[in-house]
Amino acid sequence: MRSPKMKLLIENWRKFLSEDIKIVIKKARDLVCPPATQDLELNTKNRDSAIEAEHIQYGPMNLEDEEYWIRAAKHWKTKPEVAKKSRCGNCTAFDISPRMKECMPGETSDGDGELGYCWMHHFKCHSARTCYTWAAGGPISEDSVSADWQERSNIEKEE
Ligand code: SF4
Repeated sequence: MRSPKMKLLIENWRKFLSEDIKIVIKKARDLVCPPATQDLELNTKNRDSAIEAEHIQYGPMNLEDEEYWIRAAKHWKTKPEVAKKSRCGNCTAFDISPRMKECMPGETSDGDGELGYCWMHHFKCHSARTCYTWAAGGPISEDSVSADWQERSNIEKEE
């Protein structure tokens, strides 16, 4: 049986946790959508830079482009079939959290996958593509993690 002191401790801990959760949800709700999700011109500019930059090479634009995967595999010192496993869809910077889905204007999925927000290069990238800065650990599917990326980005400060 729990002592009254123990009960009080558990009760206070519960209250503390629920306050904490409320703060995280509020923080996520209060954050503005990343500008590139709202501004097509900016999104295109950032996407084009990601395609062209030597160190990013976002692609392949044509998903059937085997040459791209051969190049990516060479860059990562692996085989094309291994390179193909590293895509935006499982990249640590790929955000498909509920709050980010609300920021996306219109339909975000097609037969090949879905759009998400790239926190490294700031544009709407496609889950079936990749880039040279891919990093394991994604996708971002929770609002609290999305909010954390946003707080560490320059978005609020740039506005
Ligand atoms: S989500 Fe990852 S793999 Fe996709 S463009 Fe951004 S950094 Fe590159």
